[in-house]
Amino acid sequence: MKIRALIFDLDGVLVSTEHNHFIAWQKTAQTLGIEFTEVHNELLKGVSRIDSLKKILELGKKVISEDYFNQLLQEKNNFYLESIQNLSQDHLLKGVLNLLVKAKNEGLKLAVGSSSKNAKHILQLVGIMEYFDTIIDGNDLTFPKPHPEVFLKGAHLLDCQPDECIVFEDALSGIKAAKEGRFIAIGVGNPTLKNETQLYLDDLTQFRLEDYA
Ligand SMILES: [Mg+2]
Repeated sequence: MKIRALIFDLDGVLVSTEHNHFIAWQKTAQTLGIEFTEVHNELLKGVSRIDSLKKILELGKKVISEDYFNQLLQEKNNFYLESIQNLSQDHLLKGVLNLLVKAKNEGLKLAVGSSSKNAKHILQLVGIMEYFDTIIDGNDLTFPKPHPEVFLKGAHLLDCQPDECIVFEDALSGIKAAKEGRFIAIGVGNPTLKNETQLYLDDLTQFRLEDYA
């Protein structure tokens, strides 16, 4: 079947804000008097905000009240939002801009499907907002990935069937969501996905649109 749309996860596929999350968690850990390095940060990859804070508390063997826990979650997000103000087109991942331009020229529809509540803000900061026909973000969702809701909503808004859409994802939960929704799932930038998808790419420069369109 001919592909009619491309749906992209945001973080780790289009743009990398991993370092911004790390710095924000490091500040939060500092408030708690807990040492938190890049090595510790590996434990938080693909982990939700709530579970990330739980892991940091485990690291420092600390127990805190629920109120303080919630306050720290809010503070972490504030640190993060502050730090992404400096994002620019330089923070786009390799191959992104070329693929978006090429896909647009081919007449494909484009969407972002992200759990992040900050997705639109980030797309604006890196200057690629205008390429997308629709953006589904954490504010539109009832069920987190691996539930396919995010991608199904995207396909619906693009007026496409799932098997007419390619989903690009860097997280296992996202690949599971895409497969569950019967999309064509392509893993990007995360070698642990190599055995989870028909196609794995180190980055989007390796994607050959002409094989699908
Ligand atoms: Mg991601």
